[in-house]
Amino acid sequence: MIVYLLACTDVEKGSPAANPDTHVLVVGAGMAGLTAARVLHDAGVSVTVIEARDRIGGRTWTADVGPAKVDLGAAWLHGVNGNPVADFADANGLSYEEENFRWSTLYDEASDTQLGDSGWEQIEDAYDSFENALPRLKANLGDTDVMAARSRWLSDEGYVGTEARLAMFAVDQWMVELEYAGPVDQVGLEEFWEERELSGGEHLPTGGYVGVVDALAEGLDIALERPVTEVRAEADGVELVAGGERFVGTHTIVTVPVGVLRAGSISFSPGLSADRLAALDRLDMGNLEKVVLVWDRKWWDGNIEFVAAENSGRFPEFYDLTELAGAPTLAGLYGGRFSREVQAGWSDEEIVADVLDVLGAATGETPPSPSYSTVTHWTTDPYTQGSYVYLPAGASSDDLAALAEPEGERVLFAGEATEPAYYGNVHAAVMSGIREAQRLGVESIDVPGWEEW
Ligand SMILES: Cc1cc2nc3c(=O)[nH]c(=O)nc-3n(C[C@H](O)[C@H](O)[C@H](O)COP(=O)(O)OP(=O)(O)OC[C@H]3O[C@@H](n4cnc5c(N)ncnc54)[C@H](O)[C@@H]3O)c2cc1C
Repeated sequence: MIVYLLACTDVEKGSPAANPDTHVLVVGAGMAGLTAARVLHDAGVSVTVIEARDRIGGRTWTADVGPAKVDLGAAWLHGVNGNPVADFADANGLSYEEENFRWSTLYDEASDTQLGDSGWEQIEDAYDSFENALPRLKANLGDTDVMAARSRWLSDEGYVGTEARLAMFAVDQWMVELEYAGPVDQVGLEEFWEERELSGGEHLPTGGYVGVVDALAEGLDIALERPVTEVRAEADGVELVAGGERFVGTHTIVTVPVGVLRAGSISFSPGLSADRLAALDRLDMGNLEKVVLVWDRKWWDGNIEFVAAENSGRFPEFYDLTELAGAPTLAGLYGGRFSREVQAGWSDEEIVADVLDVLGAATGETPPSPSYSTVTHWTTDPYTQGSYVYLPAGASSDDLAALAEPEGERVLFAGEATEPAYYGNVHAAVMSGIREAQRLGVESIDVPGWEEW
């Protein structure tokens, strides 16, 4: 009784969280689901997390690639001021380090040359120039895709030859396909570059995201390897079918990615609202993917950027993770159009072989065979179906707001794509988990680091 009274001090009187009969079923043990579960659990609410995979963390996944520990999903904290991930880490004895990657190699495939410092300057100038031109391009072109705006800007600026290739690289790769992850000819112009950013600089969690994930999950009731296929809401509760098993509760918080909702692999009864279905139809998942290669010895110099002819996006960026991962490691990132092509049919062996080809061209050395390699497949993974949400032409952040709306009183939603200002990030997922715990009545949060949220 005393325990219950103490717990009640944190929750709104008369809310679901204040009712001792409340049992919340959280679908998905990614950052949004773990956050919602952690906040509710620490406010004294009974919670079960139901996860499809045999691991927690979702799109945060610190894996062993041979001796190297590497984040195969999210790696960065994009800004630490006002970031609930940083606040949680600070309060729970977890550290993160300022990112200090420095670009070294810049290779232009079309001219088969190293471009050096002047190439970097041209890329940075083009980046700034496109950023400055955006308001004018938006006013003139209206609701179209970023590629249309980039083409207009290229001809307005009169870029030609290598300069034009570098300008295309700055926009298509740096600003769009490695950032929003969607194809540049589909990412919408209207709200492009307008989502909110956190200040404080780019950081990397020490030892990877696994530290944060494990600390969040500590003590929670989590059922693994239970893919939810049915969510039924009745007048007095909810029933979920997951991996052939029935779970009964009073409320559910569904945190699965937009790709999973769009695929229709979970059936909802009653059916999803017309607003949510229309929003899901307009939205899409980007396709950022990683290739991680580990060697016995470091054979290259610094980071590598690759400017392909026609700007195809063929493995455009590599980070040297040797210090962070504890072994000689390069992580390649690619997204957008090229990623869709690769993920549609290349084998892992073909991907690694092509990456080695790119690295050989960019460095002028023949790379030795890696001792270990891992290739991600977020795009075809049934529990993600892409990397993170982006706004295609015709969609808007109102669609993300529509995804945050509950369906009736018992079926709630969280996840990065339900956070209209910060979508696509780990902090968006965490913010959405906090939001839904608050919706159920948690008033003052007991989780160390989140007392002020
Ligand atoms: C390659 C890559 C790089 C990224 N880099 C960064 C970065 O550097 N910094 C950053 O801030 N963000 C980054 N992100 C984005 C970030 O990872 C996500 O925004 C965030 O982790 C999403 O969390 P979530 O809880 O919303 O979704 P998820 O992590 O996807 O969690 C949803 C969970 O639901 C589970 N699930 C799915 N279907 C079912 C089902 N039917 N039944 C039960 N469970 C189900 C999934 O397995 C998953 O565990 C990156 C993402 C990718 C893919």
